Amino acid sequence: MSNKQNLEVWFLTGSQDLYGEETLAQVAEQSKAVLAALEAGLSTSVKLVYKPTLKNADAIRRTMLDASASDACIGVITWMHTFSPAKMWIAGLDALQKPLMHLHTQANQSLPWSTIDMDFMNLNQAAHGDREYAHMVTRMGIARKIVVGDPASASVAARVSAWITAAVGYNTSRNLKLARFGDNMRFVSVTDGDKVSAQMALGISVENYGVNALVAAVAAVSDADAEALAAEYEQLYDVASELKAGAARHDSLVYAAKQEIALRGFLEAGGFNAFTSNFEDLGDLKQLPGLAVQRLMADGYGFGGEGDWKTSALGAILKSMTPAGGGTSFMEDYTYHFGPGPAKVLGAHMLEVCPTITKAKPKIEIHPLGIGGKEDPVRMVFTATPAQGRVVCLVDLGDRFRIVQNEIEIVEPNEDLPNLPVARAVWQPAPSLETSAEAWMLAGGSHHTVLTNSVSAETIEDFARMAKIELVVIDEETRMREFRKELQWSAAYHRLAERL
Ligand code: MN
Repeated sequence: MSNKQNLEVWFLTGSQDLYGEETLAQVAEQSKAVLAALEAGLSTSVKLVYKPTLKNADAIRRTMLDASASDACIGVITWMHTFSPAKMWIAGLDALQKPLMHLHTQANQSLPWSTIDMDFMNLNQAAHGDREYAHMVTRMGIARKIVVGDPASASVAARVSAWITAAVGYNTSRNLKLARFGDNMRFVSVTDGDKVSAQMALGISVENYGVNALVAAVAAVSDADAEALAAEYEQLYDVASELKAGAARHDSLVYAAKQEIALRGFLEAGGFNAFTSNFEDLGDLKQLPGLAVQRLMADGYGFGGEGDWKTSALGAILKSMTPAGGGTSFMEDYTYHFGPGPAKVLGAHMLEVCPTITKAKPKIEIHPLGIGGKEDPVRMVFTATPAQGRVVCLVDLGDRFRIVQNEIEIVEPNEDLPNLPVARAVWQPAPSLETSAEAWMLAGGSHHTVLTNSVSAETIEDFARMAKIELVVIDEETRMREFRKELQWSAAYHRLAERL
């Protein structure tokens, strides 16, 4: 798992030698003050790193090369405090391989109307310095986010925080290793795709293992270790009495614990942060892994069922962007409630829903699984806690990848669900189930998604821009006529923008 603690964003101030020492000393001092004001409002564990004012093309190029080479640096924020002629930035911007943000602000937020003179004017030149720079970034076709305003304001802090969080996700993506146990569920299209293109576009490495590798790892787990973990389950969760130590079906819980220990060890040893399973290809595994997958997801691993490596990778990326206490899970649109009352989706999977999306204490239960022909699997059962959120998917359209995102409100089920032996979430999609589903399907969205109650829409938008992946959003504003046109224009754009 990637370590979020040591990540940095570099803060680069642009100017030029022409101003003379006195002014440049003020620029440096004010740049530090702007950085401090900005950092004070951010909600991130990523460290902002001040760099000396950039005053010529060599320094700019060298700094951008260093940022690109640094494993800790996940992005750069640029600000032209004064005028910084943008031909000086061409080589540096060309060398930059990290996400770029452009902060457009001014050291002195207010004009001193009664005393303003040319010294003040010449020191506070971001108004034209940043425009000169932005022109060059546009001309070079470099993706970036522009944030305008007072660095001490909550709105600027929120937008910058969203971008930094997206950079964390992008860093996860560029370093993501995914273990795939078994291949794709036979005949399923949307879970399949071009893994080479995915590695080129997103950096994700999808590595296949025969399920026997996992079977052997499970067999190697000692009974004592598995019993110890099963005892931990009894402490943490509401375990069904038939599964408790000494009860008739306790062996099934111990076997689930062996699956968790084996999977965790396998993923840690290989440096993987995501994985898939396939219920059609379980080899000699006695149960489809349910509880083990749920526990690993809760610890930040991405997961996809039926060999779905794209959703698993997206899950790991979104989990790395999820703040502490937030919830993000593998999900599937399972069944609908068209009415009476507001239309809703009941989302679930066979077993594998992450308990981070509930505030309730999950139950651990054992029930038959009508598919796969294996022993009854152990699973956590719970209902997602009401929250605003979104479901997100990553699909392979053949010539490109597309992220589809739908704003949702997670709600309580209309009634208790005593006969549903699986973790679930009930939500009302925006703007309505009818428009949401029509738009989602028109965009080619998958039935598997990642549901999050805490990675913001702005962060996902910033991530898509960093990764240069098409993003289609379905929200309260979505109207089908415009949406259909957006897809048509977007298809034309992406085909025109294709590299030769
Ligand atoms: Mn599925």
